[in-house]
Amino acid sequence: MKQLHHKLSLFDSPDFAEKFHCDLPLGALCGQEKTIFRLWAPTAQQVTLRLYENGNDCDSFEEIPMTPCPRDTWEHCLSGYHSGLYYDYAVTVEGITQSTADPYARACGVNGQRSMVIDLSATDPKDWNEDKAPARPAEDIIYEIHVKDFSWDTASGVLPKWRGKFKALCQTGTTLNHIGIHPTLIDYLKRLGVTHIQLMPVYDYGSVDESGEDTQFNWGYDPVNYNVPEGSYSTDPYHGEVRIRELKEAIQSLHKNGFRVIMDVVYNHTHRLDSWLHRTVPWYYHRRNGDGTPSNGSGCGNDIAAERSMAAQYILESVLYWAEEYHMDGFRFDLMGLLDVELMNRIRSALDERYGVGEKLVFGEPWSAGPTACIPETRLALKGNLTALHPGVGAFCDATRDAVKGDLMHIDGRGFVNGGGMDAETLRHCLIGWVDAPGDFSVAAPSQTISYLSSHDDWTLWDRLVYTMDEKQDFEGYQPNILRANRMAAAINACCQGHLFQLSGEEFGRTKLGIRDSYCSSVTINRMDWNRAWKNRALVDYYQGLYALRKQIPAFCDKDADAARHILSVEQLAEDACMALIENEGGSWSRLCLLFNAGAQEQSVRIPDGTWKVLADIDSSFRWQEEQTAQEEMILSPVSVLFLGKMS
Ligand code: CA
Repeated sequence: MKQLHHKLSLFDSPDFAEKFHCDLPLGALCGQEKTIFRLWAPTAQQVTLRLYENGNDCDSFEEIPMTPCPRDTWEHCLSGYHSGLYYDYAVTVEGITQSTADPYARACGVNGQRSMVIDLSATDPKDWNEDKAPARPAEDIIYEIHVKDFSWDTASGVLPKWRGKFKALCQTGTTLNHIGIHPTLIDYLKRLGVTHIQLMPVYDYGSVDESGEDTQFNWGYDPVNYNVPEGSYSTDPYHGEVRIRELKEAIQSLHKNGFRVIMDVVYNHTHRLDSWLHRTVPWYYHRRNGDGTPSNGSGCGNDIAAERSMAAQYILESVLYWAEEYHMDGFRFDLMGLLDVELMNRIRSALDERYGVGEKLVFGEPWSAGPTACIPETRLALKGNLTALHPGVGAFCDATRDAVKGDLMHIDGRGFVNGGGMDAETLRHCLIGWVDAPGDFSVAAPSQTISYLSSHDDWTLWDRLVYTMDEKQDFEGYQPNILRANRMAAAINACCQGHLFQLSGEEFGRTKLGIRDSYCSSVTINRMDWNRAWKNRALVDYYQGLYALRKQIPAFCDKDADAARHILSVEQLAEDACMALIENEGGSWSRLCLLFNAGAQEQSVRIPDGTWKVLADIDSSFRWQEEQTAQEEMILSPVSVLFLGKMS
């Protein structure tokens, strides 16, 4: 369904892959005594290496014809130590010569237009060799941030020179407006209890001019140099080593502060069709429609042909590089549905082999922006193929997302918490992470489910609730009914098996004033509003309590294929109310009773036999710290939850 007629090419023949597939290390391999430049360019007639003193505005001081080698790589060996030397290539294909940076570059000058030779060991921050991720947590609670919007708000207490930069992730002890009371940035996240920080694109992207104004903003889903950090997040984009060191420092700091780090990777398309990959081997890395036009399943006009052997290898090696050199603990694949199942499984296995089973998280979006023109037999990592993926490859679960707050395709779509009704069967699927579900989102185990309510895409949870619940459309308000719905949504998500995920600021009712996809909106719209985080601190506390509770409930954290067995029953109590019974062996409470009332009427509920402790209700998610037992009959107020734990 998601495949279009594909233009067959020489590149698709098994002979081509067999003859030209290259396993040698590519790029500029920098040693103390020599640097080897090696480029894979099987269709090139000539390749010239050009050397520069800086990364942008000077002429080359030397041009060296490269030597063709077996497997159709082009090589040149430069004796001496050359870290800091800038270079690019002139590649001639079918008589046309084009300049290109090195697609395998690991460092570059400003805006990534020229590559740089780099001695990576010289970029390591102090004690980098001792840097280690914190131990694996009881549950993965992933918090998605954008480097610039996280610390753009000066109320965050960030040092002015680090505002919007990688370095802001190294700053601890920050408080709201420097007053010394309410923690912000890293300290705030520690208190919240999330376990993983997911960084929206931090590879070098093209939509922000690194030599321009600091107020520019973009999400960054437009890769230019896949294996180099973005320059606008560094304090100096002109010297290639600075961005590398500063990203490593940020990761080291996150690790020290108890977080694992996930990288958002975008291997499904490039900033423009006219990419370094395309200039090096025209049409090898991109899918084409039958009429020769570039395939557009990414919505960006240039889908990567990930199924071709050197494209697959490029992606796999890039992932392994970020894991090894930058100590990344996981990868989130943008439009994973444009990549193939085989490649995703290869990535999973390679990471398991190097770092231990499951040590690195791997998940992605199991969809694309449209149909793509891949080789016909390609099995894409789309929703329909999730069970063919390794159980350690996860997918964003749009089924729970939409069930809770409404179908994303319709602005007025409603879910459980905003008047769309609540039925026991859908709730059961949410709770078991859609394992063996009848619909299009169906996985083999909750290890594959990323359960979430909001991400950077589409509306924030708050804005979505305002659209559906507030006639005045007051996005900046703190409406009690919306706060209640938000709490209920978070409470439901906290009970779903799978990995938990949230957009930064969801916990304080983050608003983008109703803007759906703010990828190129101003930094003011996008920035984390730290004053709002304080004003809405009761909601923040509610998320904090839910996360602390979640980590204590083995039944929810179980990722095994048979984890659904813990969900003993889900029954309809009334039209808009449900009750779930959970077996929780090994936890502080032998069973859980979860009560949900999404309706406008209060519900009186008879609690199952036994002594039950109140763990959470709509007012507090920290009841488990108190000593309150449930009555035989409990009243569920409108739009509320009540979680009980059986005293054993
Ligand atoms: Ca850039």
